[in-house]
Amino acid sequence: MILKERLFTPGPVPLPPEVIKALGQQIIHHRTPEFTRIFLEVREKLQKLLNTERDVLMFASSGTGAMEASIVNFFNENDKVLVINAGKFGERWRDLAKTFGLNVIDYQIEWGKTYNIDKLKEIVENNKDIKGILVQQSETSTATYHDLKPLAEISNSLEDCLLVVDGITSVGVYEVYPEEIGIDILVTGSQKALMLPPGLSILYYSEKAEKRLEKSNLPKYYFSVKAESKKQQKGQTAYTPAINLIIALNESLNLILREGLPKLAKRHALLAKATQEAVKELGLKLLSESPANSATAVFSPEGINADELRKIMQKLGIRVAGGQDHLKGKIIRIAHMGYFDFVDMIEAISVLEVALYKMGYKVELGKGVKKVQEIMIEGV
Ligand SMILES: *Cc1c(COP(=O)(O)O)cnc(C)c1O
Repeated sequence: MILKERLFTPGPVPLPPEVIKALGQQIIHHRTPEFTRIFLEVREKLQKLLNTERDVLMFASSGTGAMEASIVNFFNENDKVLVINAGKFGERWRDLAKTFGLNVIDYQIEWGKTYNIDKLKEIVENNKDIKGILVQQSETSTATYHDLKPLAEISNSLEDCLLVVDGITSVGVYEVYPEEIGIDILVTGSQKALMLPPGLSILYYSEKAEKRLEKSNLPKYYFSVKAESKKQQKGQTAYTPAINLIIALNESLNLILREGLPKLAKRHALLAKATQEAVKELGLKLLSESPANSATAVFSPEGINADELRKIMQKLGIRVAGGQDHLKGKIIRIAHMGYFDFVDMIEAISVLEVALYKMGYKVELGKGVKKVQEIMIEGV
């Protein structure tokens, strides 16, 4: 029997008490001045989060909905796009783009690695007509970070190219300011670093992207940026919004903005470092050569099945995620995005140590925990 389950999965993530409280209230109607006031407040806070004064839209959907919106509103059939495909979510960009008839250059990268800039430049050199570069800032399936700055430069060097970023596990983890970085379309979702249940997706688009809206000939109905933009600027939505999630988002954005983005980013960087250093101290190997601050992906030791390890951790009260596809049974992924602090990471690492011990792996109990404590000292 599991008395308490503590989520360390890269979505969904644990909810702060303020969010739970907001979710526990009676619903209000969305065609009311009261809801409009809250909606416009949340819009403003999203703009603060992304440091922009431009339109930021909310859809009632999981994150993939906003990914679909980024394709169908800003591209045309047969448009050539380059997908930075370094994992499960890179594949999602590719499959989505193909579904809508885009001409996809699928730049496949070994899982756990980030892109090679020379290779990328070579692809672009031979494809000057690329209309979009599609990437995840944080590829959650491998816990890998892709640097956006060089991609923005490449995108800008082309005649008419949009940098489209899946920021679902980076917004709320890093300081992600699209205008500073040069992102044209940025999407995120509620159940990751925004510390909410699933069901809400968010989309930012640049001035350059806006010019595409009129020209795009792909089919769209629910995910129409034009229709939503018109409504949402006035505090309404074209269809029934995720009322309670939007009310709860107001609370989670309060928490995020109160902490402040620089501090929030530093906290995530330290928790990531603590987790990475701790597992290395236990003799384990990281999957990623460019580890993200949202989650840590780590190989189980030789002869130890990662899914078995995961099950034991779960019995001990800690739920982490496993690997997908060819990494199934090989890695575990420990999240540290959103409502997490050092004490949480001490719990997770101590349970990892016990689970490894139980499986017969030679581990000096407390060795990883000590590493987290050392970085905790550094950080406070
Ligand atoms: C979770 C996630 C998504 C969205 O998945 P949904 O299940 O649609 O919410 C997309 N990209 C990344 C990188 C993610 O981590």
